[in-house]
Order: sequence, then C-alpha cells, then structure tokens
Amino acid sequence: MSLLETFKPLIEAAMNPTPTVLVLGLIFLVLGPILLHFLYSAVTPYTTLPSVLLIGPPGSGKTTLVTLFERGPLYSSDSNSLPLPTSKTHTSATPSTTELSISPSHPYTTDLDAASATSTKKFLLIDTPGHPKLRARSVLTPLSSPDSSITIPSQHSEGDKSPLKAVIFLVDAAALADGDALPATAEYLYDVLLSLQNRFHSRKGSRAPASMPVLVAANKLDLFTALPASLVKSNLEAELGRIRAARSKGLLDSGVGQDGVEERDDAWLGGDGSEKFKFDQMMEFDVEVEVIGGNVIGDGPGVDKWWKWVGKRV
Ligand code: GDP
Repeated sequence: MSLLETFKPLIEAAMNPTPTVLVLGLIFLVLGPILLHFLYSAVTPYTTLPSVLLIGPPGSGKTTLVTLFERGPLYSSDSNSLPLPTSKTHTSATPSTTELSISPSHPYTTDLDAASATSTKKFLLIDTPGHPKLRARSVLTPLSSPDSSITIPSQHSEGDKSPLKAVIFLVDAAALADGDALPATAEYLYDVLLSLQNRFHSRKGSRAPASMPVLVAANKLDLFTALPASLVKSNLEAELGRIRAARSKGLLDSGVGQDGVEERDDAWLGGDGSEKFKFDQMMEFDVEVEVIGGNVIGDGPGVDKWWKWVGKRV
C-alpha cells in the first residue's frame, strides 16, 4: 500500500468540511501561536527585558551601587546596624548584568514574590568596565547604535539584544570638588553624549531613534567635601563646553571639518552656534540629561531618587 493510500482517509476527512474538522482547525489556529509564544519565551526568558546601562569613571561607586540594589532595601534602611555592602571594583573586561525588579511599593528589591506582582517591572542593570581602554567597545558602540539596543553579556543568554531604556552616569561628587577629577570625568561624559548624538544622526530614513534619558548621579553626598548636585551640574557643563571648544579647534587646526558641516557635526556636542554648553542642548537629539545627588553608603539622601528615576524609564 502506498503512502498516499495510507493517509487517504485522513486527507479525505480533512478536505470534508465536517463540523469536527472545522472545530479542530479553529482550535489549532487559535492555540498554535499562543503555544509557540509560551514555548519561545520559556526558552529565551531575557530577550525582552529592558536594560539600563550603568557607567562612570573608576571609583565613582558603580560596583557598590549594584551590590546595594542586588541586596535589597535592608541595606539602605539603617546603615549603622546592618553590614554595609562589601564590594570590589569591577575589573573585568566585560560588562556584568544584574536582573532587578522595581515596584512602587518597594524602594528596591530582588524579591521574586514581589517581582510577580503586577505592578513590578523587571529590568537588567548592565555595569560596565570603567577603564578608558575598554569603553569604546562596551559603552560607546552600543550607545551609538540607532536601534537603541544592547547585547546582553554572557551570564544571560549571550548574543540576545535588550532594548536600552536609560543610562546612569555615576560620578564621585567628592572627587569633583578638588578639580583634578573633573577633566577626566567630563571627557568620558562628552564621549557618551556625543555617541548618543551621533546615534540620532545615523537614524535610518526619517525615523528618529527612541529618546534616551541620561541620569548624571552625583554620588558620595554623605561626604562633607562633596559638591551639591547643582554645582556638579554647572561644573560639568562648563568643562564639557571647554572640551567642545578644544576639540573643535583641534579639528580646525588639523584641517578636518573645514570643507563641510558633516565633519564638524560629528564632534560638536549639542546645538550649533551656542557659546556655552548646557545639558538642555542635548534635547535637540532626544537626549534628556538630569543631575541628581545621592549616596550609596553613609548618611545622606541615599539612592531613592535615582531608583525612582529608573522606575519611570523602564
Ligand atoms: P567603581 O570603580 O565605580 O565600581 O567604584 P566602587 O563601587 O568600587 O567604589 C569605589 C569606592 O567608593 C569604594 O571604596 C566604595 O566603598 C566607595 N563608595 C561608593 N559609594 C560611596 C558613597 O556613597 N559614599 C562614600 N563615602 N563612599 C562610597
């Protein structure tokens, strides 16, 4: 008996529009995609989680902040009676990822029960190496990508892309007070903002990339030597303006950028023509910069305002 003859009754039944066949077909049509969706999301649970990129110069407190967020609210409530988060500076050459849950009813938590509550959102906090040599690949390249996505580092499914929702640029407000750290911190921030600006320019067609909020988190406000957030903001803006002038002069001196606007656009941060640099000038490129003070350890405003800022963006 040929194969066709074996399946003949089955094929005939399928071709005959009996009510049973119709119902079975309908069930298959409706349930098939739903089943496939659940199967796919069970195999790749992290693909759609949004991410927040944590960057900043070495020593600004990134590792300590990740440890605090990971360990949950206990560690912020009373820093005198509970052990402080111990941390080691993240020296690895690759970014690390921490899955966190954010809920309006909890300051911050990794509690899975809380995570299952409908009001809780999960996201990935991606901590990046602060060393200048590693920045280009791990920070600046993803930031200039017009599709606003970042490749998730290896402990989650490697190669998966996550939608990048926000950037936290952590600075040491106490180090900025003595002035020495200001040029290096501002150089890094300049490159970050310029990458985001270039991402806007490299958009395909007329579609602009999704807006990218940037939180400049002025850390270590528990130290009496730390600058308040308002001064961190104005000092950084002034230094970014100086870097902008120096870089554009460098370009002009070397002859690059004299023939056309294109070259100059690539290195000039913020709106053209303005003499002073202000963070507001980045709005033209859908980059909203906010400077908020806080501290990860010690007494002070804490991290609540940063956490709330993240909650609104993921
Ligand atoms: P990273 O290089 O950016 O990862 O910085 P770390 O997390 O390793 O922190 C560098 C140093 O700053 C460590 O000694 C931390 O204990 C300290 N630190 C971090 N946050 C604070 C803070 O809010 N206040 C104070 N006083 N020290 C902090």
